[in-house]
Amino acid sequence: MSSAIPEPVTKLTEAFSRLPGVGPKTASRLTFYLLRAPDDYSLSLAAALTNLKAQTRFCGICYNITVDDPCAICASRERGTDTIAVVEEPLDLMALERTGIYRGKYHVLHGAISPVSGIGPDDLKIRELVARVEQGDASEVIIATNPGMEGDATAMYLQRELAGAGVKLTRLARGLPIGGDLEYVDSVTLMRALEGRSELG
Ligand code: ZN
Repeated sequence: MSSAIPEPVTKLTEAFSRLPGVGPKTASRLTFYLLRAPDDYSLSLAAALTNLKAQTRFCGICYNITVDDPCAICASRERGTDTIAVVEEPLDLMALERTGIYRGKYHVLHGAISPVSGIGPDDLKIRELVARVEQGDASEVIIATNPGMEGDATAMYLQRELAGAGVKLTRLARGLPIGGDLEYVDSVTLMRALEGRSELG
């Protein structure tokens, strides 16, 4: 970028361009949009960014993003503790919630095993899941990792790790689009995948 552009502009543009799905062009368009926008807009955006990290945390039980710890789902007495659905990301949890049929608890791994990206089991909340299953009263763990190589690798690893935990292990039914994230799957398809889940053995 040319030095004719002031540093605050290049700095914000660079920050935007690191966001997923945002290329250099969009990043500079966003920056110049903010330059022209009213002051209170950029100030409230800055405050929202600061609060995003300051006011949220991981739930100490399921590792979903939450303001209160434990999160509303973990704290709810109306949700059964007999099943734990294991998802990769908070957005996948939200996708399952949208189906409206799942009434158990969750566990968010915060990613999937991916040797290509250098992400191993220790980078995910797997140890926490195993400890939770061993100490808790769940009778079924539904592995709801995304369909595709990384989700499959993660499911296989979980199957091994939880083999001796004395719980039934199931996985969402096939038929979900391979390589797609649960968050993009429509609720009806996801509902069928949940209802048609099969036992891993
Ligand atoms: Zn929770």
